[in-house]
Amino acid sequence: MEDFAADPSHPRYDSLLKRHLLESAAQKGMLAESALIAHGRGEAYDYLIGEKTIETAMTATKHALYRLKIANNPVISVNGNTTALAGEELMKLASLLDCPIEVNIFYRTPERMSVLLNHLEEVKQKFGLNVEILGASPDARIPGLEGPRAKCCHNGIFLSDVILVPLEDGDRCEALVAMGKTVIVVDLNPLSRSAKMGSITIVDEITRVAKNLVSMFEDPEEVLQLPFDNDNNLRLTLKHINQSLVELSS
Ligand code: ATP
Ligand code: MG
Repeated sequence: MEDFAADPSHPRYDSLLKRHLLESAAQKGMLAESALIAHGRGEAYDYLIGEKTIETAMTATKHALYRLKIANNPVISVNGNTTALAGEELMKLASLLDCPIEVNIFYRTPERMSVLLNHLEEVKQKFGLNVEILGASPDARIPGLEGPRAKCCHNGIFLSDVILVPLEDGDRCEALVAMGKTVIVVDLNPLSRSAKMGSITIVDEITRVAKNLVSMFEDPEEVLQLPFDNDNNLRLTLKHINQSLVELSS
């Protein structure tokens, strides 16, 4: 982060830092060309929720953590943006959950895969984590998807019963749900197909979500065992946004 010059007192410091992380990731070849556009869409929604973890997001995060903890075969699936922004925290979460992390990208090229896998390997060494990093040799397919984006690892995504899959494309999310998995989506846009398709959708920014999951991990008080109604939680999220806009405009 040597080349990041913004002052921490800058009102948009966090946002500038995330952009910088993504710029560096793009230079290293970690991102698809549309990655910065996808981030921009997320930023716009983050403004609408106030750039903080709102109550409905915290409820979804607690449920997600509970489901991950009681899963038989949990897995964390990461793409380029997620790896760049939250690779460290999600590797720590994988270590806590004792589950694999699988690099699974929409626009799969051998070069991008290897840069992403190397990045996670460096995080693993840096923190001395015992985490299986999957994705190098996909040996299974997600039914219902065509082409390279169906590829996945048998011992990771394919066999998983609960999958944390931030910033996922709506189609693939739907295909994972159709496989009978509990699909935990992280998406700042409560209107996206992914958000609507997910079993548990956390409408929050991925770096905040990853930090929350790690920090709440040891705290049994933070885990909810009640059933979770995703459609209702999304409705409450939209109400929150609506209410904030009403207040701001009155
Ligand atoms: P679909 O309707 O198929 O789900 P989409 O609107 O989700 O499509 P994509 O480009 O597939 O579009 O995914 C990007 C999504 O990720 C956007 O909805 C955006 O809100 C969200 N997003 C981008 N950056 C972040 C981030 N840092 N944290 C959380 N969500 C993010
Ligand atoms: Mg999506």
